Amino acid sequence: MREIPQQLVDPCSADPHGEPVLRLEEAIARMLAEVQPVTGEETLALRPALGRILSEDVRSTVDVPSHTNSAMDGYAVRAADLPTDGSAELRLVGTAWAGRPLSETVEPGECARIMTGAPVPVGADTIVIQEHVSAEGERVRIGPGHRQGQHIRRAGEDVRAGDVALGSGAVLQPAHLGLLASIGVARVTVRRRPRVAFFSTGDELRSVGETLEAGQIYDSNRYTLHGMLARLGVEMTDMGVIPDDPVQIERAFASAAGEADAIITSGGVSVGEADFVTETLGKLGTVGFWKVAIKPGRPLAFGRIGDALFFGLPGNPVSVMATFYQLVRPVLLRLKGIMAPDPDVLVRAVCGSRLKKKPGRMEFQRGVLTRDASGRYSVETTGHQGAGVLRSMAEANCFIVLPMDAESISPGDEVDVQPFSALVWF
Ligand code: AMP
Ligand code: MG
Repeated sequence: MREIPQQLVDPCSADPHGEPVLRLEEAIARMLAEVQPVTGEETLALRPALGRILSEDVRSTVDVPSHTNSAMDGYAVRAADLPTDGSAELRLVGTAWAGRPLSETVEPGECARIMTGAPVPVGADTIVIQEHVSAEGERVRIGPGHRQGQHIRRAGEDVRAGDVALGSGAVLQPAHLGLLASIGVARVTVRRRPRVAFFSTGDELRSVGETLEAGQIYDSNRYTLHGMLARLGVEMTDMGVIPDDPVQIERAFASAAGEADAIITSGGVSVGEADFVTETLGKLGTVGFWKVAIKPGRPLAFGRIGDALFFGLPGNPVSVMATFYQLVRPVLLRLKGIMAPDPDVLVRAVCGSRLKKKPGRMEFQRGVLTRDASGRYSVETTGHQGAGVLRSMAEANCFIVLPMDAESISPGDEVDVQPFSALVWF
């Protein structure tokens, strides 16, 4: 990684000191190159393992299904007894229930009533659904058109005893919990969760519950960060508000670096007189870069203090959310141990609004995405897009993603939209 530049240039101007402005993809690639998943594991019961990353292969000791069974309610028959034309009459010998197998064998000329999930009785090899049968007492009449082996679920067709049912690295989703339960596994070994410490910087910030004096504002970034981090399934330490004081910032950084795998700050990364974050990061660790060609977002610091990754996000509340989702989230997923996250979801939508945009940076404008009865997606801007206008996030359900070279958008133009719902891990 590169050391922090000695003279900090104005990060909001277009590069007067030749400091490269990074494209988003390059910024992400550079960060990912620095990140190893956390090491350390723990063993958990299935339910609390939701969203965690499996750190060992899980082999099944059983077949699933454990016995060959019926996929339908109907009659278990021998294929040799099925008529090719006309119909055949079979003698009913009993009923097989799910959980209550039939002990009788189905001999030639016989059949058994069978319910979904019931073991197929010995002798039978085919199920005829009840709608295709006329039954009167012990006499069961079956017509033509049936196929040997139909409606039968074979033992082990889902999972075989000895197979790896779920490989190391799997991100445990509801289906995985169910699959593990289906093979009788009650506990799994998973990676530990990354520990993320976060705090806000700024002399003007007060926490909710405190009284505001002139010029002060409530700290909202720790709340949005809490929400976004909680949904990524990391362990969080909220370190509160740190004033714009280099000594206190340094102390906070050092203490966070001692216990966290990643540190996230907001505010104090530009080059105002009271912006000490980048400077302190350079003093205690290394700074990776600090300008990314996205709006809202720049400036931004990325680096490392000791073993902890460091993200210095801008102070503006919308910038915090946009940079978290676009830059921090992919890195935290890797830190968790998700090596191949699902691809980003982008929806093409017709934009109903006029959007102002300058070429040269990617923009994440806030919008409301809707889908009409014919399946057509449309998006409208939430209006005022200022980086401090948190309402633009609160009223939105998506980012309108405008690429680097795009210029202003006119109503009727198609745009890419990133639904917020796709940014939630689970
Ligand atoms: P900064 O990046 O420190 O220059 O802050 C940019 C703007 O964001 C300023 O208007 C700050 O008052 C505001 N700001 C910084 N941190 C927070 C926070 N935690 N909550 C709300 N607004 C903030
Ligand atoms: Mg500040």
